[in-house]
Amino acid sequence: MNLTYNCKNNRPENLKEDKMSIADNLIQIQSQLKEEVELVAVSKTKPSAAIQEAYDAGQRIFGENRPQEMQAKAAELPKDIQWHMIGHLQSNKVKYIAAFVSLIHSVDKLSLLHEINKRATQHNRVIPVLLQVYIAQEESKFGMDEAEINEMLTSEEFRALQNVQVVGLMGMATNTDNKSTVQKEFASLKQLFNVLKTTHFKNHSSFKEISMGMSGDFLIAIKEGSTLVRVGSAIFGGRN
Ligand SMILES: *Cc1c(COP(=O)(O)O)cnc(C)c1O
Repeated sequence: MNLTYNCKNNRPENLKEDKMSIADNLIQIQSQLKEEVELVAVSKTKPSAAIQEAYDAGQRIFGENRPQEMQAKAAELPKDIQWHMIGHLQSNKVKYIAAFVSLIHSVDKLSLLHEINKRATQHNRVIPVLLQVYIAQEESKFGMDEAEINEMLTSEEFRALQNVQVVGLMGMATNTDNKSTVQKEFASLKQLFNVLKTTHFKNHSSFKEISMGMSGDFLIAIKEGSTLVRVGSAIFGGRN
C-alpha cells in the first residue's frame, strides 16, 4: 500500500513537498533528530493501515490519546509496537491499556497515579509514567505546576506506589507562531527537570525523559533538551 497525504495542510516549514508517503515523512523527520531523541509517531484518529505503513518503514513507537482506540489498534497490529498514551487520561479508562502500555505521558494528579498503580499491580507489572507539567499560557492545557509536583513527590501516598515508575516530565507549549514563547516554555520544562532530578531523583538513573515537541515545534524542543518528540500530522497528514 502506498498512502499519500497532502502535506499542505498543517504543514511544518521543514516539509516542502506536496505529496509524500508516510515512509518519506518518517525519513525526513528522523534525519532531523539527534541520536538520543526518540520519535513517538502520533497516530490518533488514523487507521491501522497507516500505522502498519509506518511500522513497515521501521517505526516502533506510536502515540494515542484515547484508551479504547489504543486498545483496539494494539489488538490488530504487531506485538512489538510500543504504545504511548499521550493525551489526558481519565482514571476509569486506565483499565483498557494497563496490560500493555509502554509509557503514559500525561499523569496530572495523584489519584490517576493511584489507579495506574492498582491496574499495573493486577497485571503484575510496573508502568513507566511521565508527569505532565503546565508550561503554556493557555487555559486549556492539562498539567501540574512545580508546587503540585513537589507536594506529590514528597507525599507518603506517592512513596507507597510500587507499580508505577516516574521516568520524566512532559509538556505542551502554547499553540503560537511566536518561537521565542515556545522556546522559553520548553526551557522552563528542562529547568524544572533539572531541579527535580537533583531534589527527588538523585539516585534514579531512570528519571531521564523530557517529552516535548510536536509537528510544529519539535526542532525547538530538541534544542531545549527534549528526549521524546510527539509528532503526528507531519508524519500522517492533517486530522479532521
Ligand atoms: C495530537 C498530539 C500531538 C501531535 O500533534 P501534531 O501537531 O499532529 O504533531 C502531540 N502531543 C499531544 C499530547 C497530542 O495530543
